[in-house]
Amino acid sequence: MPNIINDIKLDFKDVLLRPKRSTLKSRFDVDLFRDITFRNSKLAYQGIPVMASNMDTVGTFEMAKALSKHGLFTTIHKYYTADEWKVFAIRNPECLKNVAASSGTGNEDFERLSMILATIPELTFICIDVANGYSQHFVEYVRRVRLEFPFHTIIAGNVVTGEMVEELILSGADIIKVGIGPGSVCTTRMKTGVGYPQLSAVIECADAAHGLKGHIISDGGCTCPGDIAKAFGAGADFVMAGGMFAGHDECGGETIQKNGKKYKLFYGMASNTAMKKHAGGVADYRSSEGKTVEVAHKGAVESTILDMLGGLRSACTYVGASRLRELPKRATFIRCNQQINNIYGPPM
Ligand code: 5GP
Repeated sequence: MPNIINDIKLDFKDVLLRPKRSTLKSRFDVDLFRDITFRNSKLAYQGIPVMASNMDTVGTFEMAKALSKHGLFTTIHKYYTADEWKVFAIRNPECLKNVAASSGTGNEDFERLSMILATIPELTFICIDVANGYSQHFVEYVRRVRLEFPFHTIIAGNVVTGEMVEELILSGADIIKVGIGPGSVCTTRMKTGVGYPQLSAVIECADAAHGLKGHIISDGGCTCPGDIAKAFGAGADFVMAGGMFAGHDECGGETIQKNGKKYKLFYGMASNTAMKKHAGGVADYRSSEGKTVEVAHKGAVESTILDMLGGLRSACTYVGASRLRELPKRATFIRCNQQINNIYGPPM
């Protein structure tokens, strides 16, 4: 008989953070940097744990340069060659502590990854990314990468439930990427009916990971700086975003001119656009699980970064967290029926 979970599971839009009495004088007093030591690699990380997705539109070297200046992280997409990596590493050695090299689970992925890591010893983060992190093949691939690279920090995903978080951490991953279906250009929930409301997924997966001294990334579904604050409040150690970083000068993808206005093409990595670009088309046995959209050109990513970090500092001030690390301890979520007043439309 099919099972039904009757507990209500929540998304970012279903809650607000409750303000709390605080002794903080100003947003200026809030420290967004975190020091983390990873469970399996034993490596230490220091940075602002906001990440650009490993999508070929936002996980670019240009994005990494802009984000790293502020201490943010970029998971670089997997379509750069080892030679391109080499040039990036020589010209931007200071960025290497804030980037990861991405990999799928094929043999050619493994070879490419090995070549990049052999070329750049200072690169210590690996991001193993598949749409569905529940297969045994994926778990075995994580084990293989751990065996081959015992001293690298491994990010693995995506999953949304505690038992799979534990399995991946015990298989050698340090940071688990959490999110199935919340993304801005994702159509998995429509095509398959599969998913998990993101706020609840983060709360449950963080609990499972932290019990083993592992860490998690909340991946996808952040539409505004407030959502990033909610993800951290829910227990995410890192928050990854694609759509919020899309449309900037630093992004890959075509720039389109229409009626005197500039747009940037942004698409899911499982969209027709991405599959045509990287796999020569959509195979007969699968369907596209991503959208292609045109995002109004937003200029340099710098102002978006400042807006995100300003919002996050302000959220910490409202709940009395002097450091980002304290946000989950200070967070109480209130369920709500309406969180934003849209009488004048969405903010520009
Ligand atoms: P966003 O921040 O735009 O809401 O979500 C970004 C995340 O969406 C990515 O980090 C990745 O996990 C996910 N994603 C990217 N492309 C696709 C896609 O084509 N299909 C699905 N299902 N998810 C995608």
